[in-house]
Amino acid sequence: MSATLEATDLHKSFGGVHAVAGVTLRVAAGELLALIGPNGAGKSTCFNMLNGQLRPDCGEVRLRGEDITGMAPRRVWRMGVGRTFQITATFGSMTVLENVQMALLSHRRRLFDLWNPVGREDPARALALLERVGMAAQAARPCGVLAYGDLKRVELAIALANDPALLLMDEPTAGMAPAERVALMELTARIARDGGIAVLFTEHDMDVVFGHADRILVLDRGRPIAEGAPEAVRADARVREVYLGT
Ligand code: ADP
Ligand code: MG
Repeated sequence: MSATLEATDLHKSFGGVHAVAGVTLRVAAGELLALIGPNGAGKSTCFNMLNGQLRPDCGEVRLRGEDITGMAPRRVWRMGVGRTFQITATFGSMTVLENVQMALLSHRRRLFDLWNPVGREDPARALALLERVGMAAQAARPCGVLAYGDLKRVELAIALANDPALLLMDEPTAGMAPAERVALMELTARIARDGGIAVLFTEHDMDVVFGHADRILVLDRGRPIAEGAPEAVRADARVREVYLGT
């Protein structure tokens, strides 16, 4: 069976900088793959090629077998690629429920291309999504007053409203306290497994990476230097060298 995401031999240069130099990656449904590497390794450039923000110089991106290489971000999103941002993207004055209703509405428009006022989106479906992320009890609160970790959960519900096959998460736990990090990653793993969603994330916190990823792909200066299960990657001599800075 083909993986949810299959990116093959991606390359991208900026002027003389070969930012991504031959990256191949696969993420299966229900799996969490961490993309790690030092600053400048090419992680963001990879993400941007996967969500349509950047067109690869060469290489191919397939989602559920379909070629999405070079498609515009909006089309890629329509194909089922969701993402969460380092900076949260909710409307602070609207309630948690309204934010998720908006997301559901925009998903429905993706499917049927109908205009429909927010008030007509069924709150039951939005509440069900909030249940999935453990935020139903705070549905009536404005997003602007939420704790940071709770906002991240709402963001996850918003991403899920698009019914994604693949979720791209750029440093999902940045700015969180350690206990919140564990909770968010456990939630993400559960959602991925239950919903058959492939998750690709970047992360600086090595406890998060080694504790929650099913597999890890390590980049250094645009090139993959190791890939595999956390224990194998942790033991890899080149990874240790890169992370020890020698
Ligand atoms: P990471 O996310 O792993 O820190 P990036 O993908 O952001 O790495 O960057 C990889 C390399 O590409 C770096 O050398 C960076 O300076 C360069 N780079 C990234 N984006 C651009 C751009 N838009 N223009 C020029 N150089 C870029
Ligand atoms: Mg980056």
